[in-house]
Amino acid sequence: MSAKRRQAIFTERCTGHNVAPCCLCGEPIHRHEDRWIVEHKRALALLGPDTNPNCAPAHYKCAEVKTHTQDLPRIRKAKRQQARHEGTKKPARGFQTPAGAVFDWRLRRYVTTV
Ligand SMILES: [Zn+2]
Repeated sequence: MSAKRRQAIFTERCTGHNVAPCCLCGEPIHRHEDRWIVEHKRALALLGPDTNPNCAPAHYKCAEVKTHTQDLPRIRKAKRQQARHEGTKKPARGFQTPAGAVFDWRLRRYVTTV
């Protein structure tokens, strides 16, 4: 993201002179004093669009918390769901052969050999 676009997004959200609310905690951000980033309300990895309405300024610290407590776990889950959908992930727990049993093809069931 260009510095110009970053500032433009901040300006779009301004409620006062160089002050805009944090999109996560609601507290004001001062453009030149506070450390802030442009937060994607819906993460890019979750197919959020990279458009200005999906972006808003957030305190650096607020955004770090959101990224690690909400976005990353959801992104990991989305990747697991996609892998399962594509068939590239084995089920975590399949059917386990009972101990000491073998499959009898004629009977079409497991029989114990003991
Ligand atoms: Zn904040």
